[in-house]
Amino acid sequence: MTDIRTEPDTATAELIDAEAAHVAHNYHPLPVVVARGEGSWVSDVEGRRYLDLLSAYSALNFGHRHPALVAAATEQLGRLTLTSRAFHNDVLGSFATALAELAGKDMVLPMNTGAEAVETGIKVARAWAYRVKGVPTDAANIVVAAGNFHGRTTTIVGFSDDPQARDGFGPFAPGFRTVPYGDAAALAAAIDEHTAAVLIEPIQGEAGVVIPPDGYLRAVRELCTEQRVLFIADEIQSGLGRVGTTFACDREGVVPDLYLLGKALGGGILPLSAVVGDRDVLGVIHPGEHGSTFGGNPLAAAVGRVVVDMLASGEFQSRATALGDHLRDRLEGLLGSGVTAVRVAGLWAGVDIDPEIGTGREVAERLLGRGVLVKDTHGQTIRMAPPLVIRATEIDWAVEQLKVVLAG
Ligand SMILES: *Cc1c(COP(=O)(O)O)cnc(C)c1O
Repeated sequence: MTDIRTEPDTATAELIDAEAAHVAHNYHPLPVVVARGEGSWVSDVEGRRYLDLLSAYSALNFGHRHPALVAAATEQLGRLTLTSRAFHNDVLGSFATALAELAGKDMVLPMNTGAEAVETGIKVARAWAYRVKGVPTDAANIVVAAGNFHGRTTTIVGFSDDPQARDGFGPFAPGFRTVPYGDAAALAAAIDEHTAAVLIEPIQGEAGVVIPPDGYLRAVRELCTEQRVLFIADEIQSGLGRVGTTFACDREGVVPDLYLLGKALGGGILPLSAVVGDRDVLGVIHPGEHGSTFGGNPLAAAVGRVVVDMLASGEFQSRATALGDHLRDRLEGLLGSGVTAVRVAGLWAGVDIDPEIGTGREVAERLLGRGVLVKDTHGQTIRMAPPLVIRATEIDWAVEQLKVVLAG
């Protein structure tokens, strides 16, 4: 299916060096230079093909250049791309209506990146605490979970417990409390009368696809309702079909007060994020208090509108469920043969590699040599988030490559 290679060839090496010369070294990419993408596959500058099992961290849930999404973007490019919110545009309203309906909520606040959606959620929660709940000015706290990943702004890394994400970037914003993930009793103990919100990922992605114990999300919901605290679900990576349901919260039949969405919302074409909630919460924000030059732009809204329509059919969620079962089955077959643990939710997997075999990075590099793209996280884990358009036979082939790599 693909050439097996071990070393980057000259053309690839030159492009990598040229990039490294003038792009800040804030990432450590695998040594492949991608030039084209279609569906679940990409090809590099030499024309070698790779199965993409990362999907840009779930931003490519619908695969590369899905025809319906490309068509929507192209049509909109020919008409209108940007107005700023100083004026209305004829696309934002229909996107927001469709997204609100998909989420079963009243309102949408559009932004661009995931981190902006998280920052927006924090601002909304604090404004709600002061204006609705009656928390004294500047006294609000937000409870977050250990092992979280919510983005890269200074406020957000300030409540990360990953030293790589946070060390050297202080001083940090106060007002956050960290509790162990998956521990409802610890959460209950951390909430007080000044708590505005609980902010968690329903499944922790960057942490290695960490799935909380059954009943945890329900307990979070109950605690938040009892204590009059907003439940903010960061579904930027877990949401929009990835786990076999529209939202990961659906797995426990739980509805948060605010959904934070991003990544796949932009169809793998452009950045588009949103905070989605009911009027009694999102309505606390008034004109002039929050915004974004590109937030809600017609080009992004046109793509987002089609993303929402595609999810409304349920087809992608069903694929994620069926193919996820298939992936789980195949990956569990590797337990004890170089794999120490497997965590799967829909078409999303964290695979812990036996240190005897190598690090997650080393396994990812060897998989690259066999035409499979994955990304390591936290040392020993590789994360798989294939496009939801992948085929079962392609999953089989990819797991076969992993088997070969693990066998050394
Ligand atoms: C990726 C991610 C973010 C940040 O999104 P950006 O678009 O990179 O700013 C926030 N939360 C979660 C759960 C994510 O996976």
